[in-house]
Amino acid sequence: MAKFKFKYGTMGAGKSQELLRTLYNYRTRGDNVIVLCSKLDDRYGVGRVTSRTGDHQEAIAISSMKDIENICSLKDNPVCVLIDEVQFFKKEWLEKLKEFFVIENNIPIIAYGLKTDFQNNLFEGTMACLTLAEEIKEIENICKFCNKKAIMNMRIDESGKKVKEGKQVDIGGNDKYIAVCHYHYLKGKK
Ligand SMILES: [Zn+2]
Repeated sequence: MAKFKFKYGTMGAGKSQELLRTLYNYRTRGDNVIVLCSKLDDRYGVGRVTSRTGDHQEAIAISSMKDIENICSLKDNPVCVLIDEVQFFKKEWLEKLKEFFVIENNIPIIAYGLKTDFQNNLFEGTMACLTLAEEIKEIENICKFCNKKAIMNMRIDESGKKVKEGKQVDIGGNDKYIAVCHYHYLKGKK
């Protein structure tokens, strides 16, 4: 039976890199893979999965249930569905995708995303993945300031100071995100 797999990690853990490597492996076998991303994330241009190492691939940018319904088709014979930045997906989108691909057509979905936002709250898409996934795996990362495991994402402003308030999603702002351990999440850089 196909599974819905959720692979989560902090900023810069290598999630998109792993997605691209998985995509490459399928494509070298001649398999067709559906790649989805969120229209929210236009850092590198809409409809693209880009890793921090600079690799990129085209993806279908999703912004509504209508987009999801259009994706739910077998016309190109997909063998797998890959989702980048799944934290930005709506619960109902993920439920629909799982029902159509995994349950009804035995096609696996692998979703990659962040666990928590900069205020350490779960994203909607992440919550949905935690409830829908048959398999959950962490892509581990190291704190920006020490050798401990990074488990949180800190938003910093241009001067490197921790940002405490703001919208959950602020892509395109001047703020940046770094992966940190719990100690450095609380204390910032010393
Ligand atoms: Zn640390």
